[in-house]
Amino acid sequence: MPLHRRLFLSTLAAVVAAPASAKPKPNRAHTALPRALPVPGGVARIPLGAAADRPVARAADIPLLVVGSPSAWTALVGIPLATTPGPASITVESTGAAARDIAYTVQTKQYREQRLSVDGKHVDLSPEDEARFERERAHQAVVRATFSRPEPSADALAMQVPVPGPRSSSFGLRRVFNGQPRQPHSGMDIAAGVGTPVRSPLPARVIDTGDYFFNGNTVWLDHGGGLLTLHCHLSAIDVNPGDLLHKGDRLGAVGATGRVTGPHLHFGVMLNRTMVDPALFLRA
Ligand code: ZN
Repeated sequence: MPLHRRLFLSTLAAVVAAPASAKPKPNRAHTALPRALPVPGGVARIPLGAAADRPVARAADIPLLVVGSPSAWTALVGIPLATTPGPASITVESTGAAARDIAYTVQTKQYREQRLSVDGKHVDLSPEDEARFERERAHQAVVRATFSRPEPSADALAMQVPVPGPRSSSFGLRRVFNGQPRQPHSGMDIAAGVGTPVRSPLPARVIDTGDYFFNGNTVWLDHGGGLLTLHCHLSAIDVNPGDLLHKGDRLGAVGATGRVTGPHLHFGVMLNRTMVDPALFLRA
């Protein structure tokens, strides 16, 4: 455990020291979100120290979300699922100082395999569907590169789950559709009936809506600083690009559009153009 963390915990223990009869309570509510999990598909929290102005941080030239205050800034780094574990680094520029690299280590995580059966047209694409998918991929690449200001504040990153319901822990699973390997699962699936309202997990600006080949009816939300959320397979879309949403505002309804095995919400969280595990942004 790093020294500053031990000091923090011992200070905390002194402050909250309770009568001997009281049971210790888990201090989960004090854990900063997103939780640090420096593995492929996870998030690294990298301390940048003090600086009068918000530093600019990048990973491979992609801007990173930097949160905090002049006394202590932190870079939140989304780590791609395809990353090879081992040494990694980010570049940081602060006003009046030379750019510097900060190293960190991507740890190993093994993801299981999941085999699914879906409509064959979503696995062996016709030439028309292949062309449609390529057009959509080019459009989505523009959406995914959104980086807007202001950045969300460090204590406002706890997301509200967009729909209540059983959540799969299937983020990162290596997927085999109808016997054929495909991209790993890059979000969280939440089971709910068709028509169940889907709500914005944070204050947001709607940046894209559409009916896409794999994702079905889809809404992309921008939460600032390269933090985006993705809501897929909807039966209804109730918002338009440019709309501003409060946390908890309805954006659409659960459905079964696109490549699905049944009705559910596919909930994706993107940081620095990287899909990361949404569970890291949820309290429980
Ligand atoms: Zn999914």
